[in-house]
Amino acid sequence: MTEIIDGNEIADRIKAELNVCVDTLGDHGVTPGLATVLMSDDGASETYVNMKQRACEEIGIEGRHHELDAEASSDTLEGRIEALNENPDVHGILVQMPVPDHVDEQTVLERIDPMKDVDGFHPENVGKLVTGEPRLKPCTPHGIQRLLAETGVETAGKDVAVVGRSNIVGKPMTNLLVQKRDLGNATVTTCHSRTDALAEKTKNADIVIAAAGVPELIDGSMLSEDTVVIDVGVNRVDVSERRLEDGQTPSDQSDTDKGYELVGDVEFESAKQKASAITPVPGGVGPLTIAMLLYNTVKAASLQENVDVDL
Ligand code: NDP
Repeated sequence: MTEIIDGNEIADRIKAELNVCVDTLGDHGVTPGLATVLMSDDGASETYVNMKQRACEEIGIEGRHHELDAEASSDTLEGRIEALNENPDVHGILVQMPVPDHVDEQTVLERIDPMKDVDGFHPENVGKLVTGEPRLKPCTPHGIQRLLAETGVETAGKDVAVVGRSNIVGKPMTNLLVQKRDLGNATVTTCHSRTDALAEKTKNADIVIAAAGVPELIDGSMLSEDTVVIDVGVNRVDVSERRLEDGQTPSDQSDTDKGYELVGDVEFESAKQKASAITPVPGGVGPLTIAMLLYNTVKAASLQENVDVDL
């Protein structure tokens, strides 16, 4: 029987633990603060930032939202980050990506005080992660580590295929899994768009983590029996096109809603036949990403204010 991993339920458990930490900080007169900065007219980015702010409220983190005109200069954005770096009430800073083309993303990430870098993307935090002394870990891979642990999936000694090598998911995921410490000790194969014979790599894996941003790239035929499948992908797919692919005629769609649906990088139905456990999209990895952002904010507050909390 395949376990469908409930990311919302695991995220709620983590949030409950964080609530206790927020209370401990409160006993020392500290309210953790997270500043989000949005410099974009993109609706999806706005939705993500709103979700993050709402999650802060849920557990007693003070959210402060900053919106900049998408046409504003890079200096304006960097100036805002500097001000937030100096503000002692702000323990975490998150600049919602992507930023407009005229702004250099890496410059922005490097402007953020590494102690307030709750995304874990500053080179100082990346370096600490790679050398095995992680401080603020990138939220999605950290969330996946927790998700595996909470599901009782051991990583030590296992073969893991990570599909994707981005700086925000694939590479840090690989780095966390190969570490000589708890929730690591795996043998990791990192796959990407130039990987030859991807199916061989995924078939050889006990755990497959798909983070390619390609709808339904991995299907059941690419998996061995009893694989644990973690689907990071969030892809918007045109619903009408999908129904046509499934052999329906346009008239079959007349009573259905138009627009998009979200699918992962894994073809869920066929993968489920092979997997021992699998995350759905939505409701799998996504809630963990937000929970670990809250975790990083609480951790950043505890480090900056020298208050021990039980993380
Ligand atoms: P990127 O586009 O930055 O990276 C995608 C990676 O996948 C690249 O390394 C790319 O290879 C590789 N890739 C692309 N096509 C293939 C292929 N056919 N075979 C093998 N590898 C391939 O994406 P992100 O890492 O930012 O995100 C990945 C997915 O995860 C997206 O769908 C994104 O929306 C989702 N996401 C979800 C989150 C969540 O909380 N649920 C959080 C973050 C992301 P190459 O390097 O060669 O180009």
